[in-house]
Amino acid sequence: MKDYLVKAIAHNKQVRAYAAITTETIEEVRCRHNMLTVASVVLGRSMTAGVILGAMLKGEEKLTIKMNGGGSIGTILVDANAKGEVRGYVSNPHAYAGLNQQGLLDIKSAVGTNGILSVTKDIGLNHPFIGQIPIVSGEIGEDFASYLLHSEQVASSVGVGVLVNPDFTIQASGGFIIQLIPNTEEKTIRLIEERLQTMPSISSMIGQSITPEQILKQLLGEENISIFETIPVQFRCECSRDRISNAILSLESEEIQDMIDTDGKAEAHCHFCNESYYYSKEDLETLLKVSIS
Ligand code: ZN
Repeated sequence: MKDYLVKAIAHNKQVRAYAAITTETIEEVRCRHNMLTVASVVLGRSMTAGVILGAMLKGEEKLTIKMNGGGSIGTILVDANAKGEVRGYVSNPHAYAGLNQQGLLDIKSAVGTNGILSVTKDIGLNHPFIGQIPIVSGEIGEDFASYLLHSEQVASSVGVGVLVNPDFTIQASGGFIIQLIPNTEEKTIRLIEERLQTMPSISSMIGQSITPEQILKQLLGEENISIFETIPVQFRCECSRDRISNAILSLESEEIQDMIDTDGKAEAHCHFCNESYYYSKEDLETLLKVSIS
């Protein structure tokens, strides 16, 4: 099943609901960054939340999520846009975590709770919108719920999960965000709270090869939801050799000459997709000619 995301309204338009399956996307990121289990879980959860937040944007709008709680994983960075395209990395793809009291991987301590979750939205204005909250849980889902409540004033439930196979490949990844519009009827709120408390965890749902539509049906009841948009989800990095060449061309020609004289080569590395771009002396001399012509 290809990754995709669905958007829905529910309960007489009082509820907005989003669900996504991101298994292939996170598997690509795992391969690119050679991630071990903890990094895959942390980044997979963060990218799933990110791609859903991205889907709340319009047109060419995009956002960047940055999170650092002081844990062994380091900084978590995610870029997403309104088209279902997402990329991300963590500083330590080989971070280790012990088990918590429930016998599960201690994701909370790997992320840490001594820091900030920030979301920067580029919505085409002069200044980006920046929302920041202290990290409250380190489990990612609750942190995004807290961000949405305190920074965007929208009561939300966020569930994100990643299952990793013993050989480190991604078995399943996905999640949901459910949001109440202001003035949602009390009985609808109670109904949703009850369902959220009694439903299986998102991790056990995605382990059953569930679709995004089925996640929302389980959460909200089939009769209550109306799906109005489906968008593909995929890993996509904006970097390219052309972009790097343009960045070199934007330098003064003396600086390019200096690269040729000093190192006789240049290398640029993209943290998001882990690609490296090499420029030989001849490549740089060609760019220098363009620069001074
Ligand atoms: Zn890249």
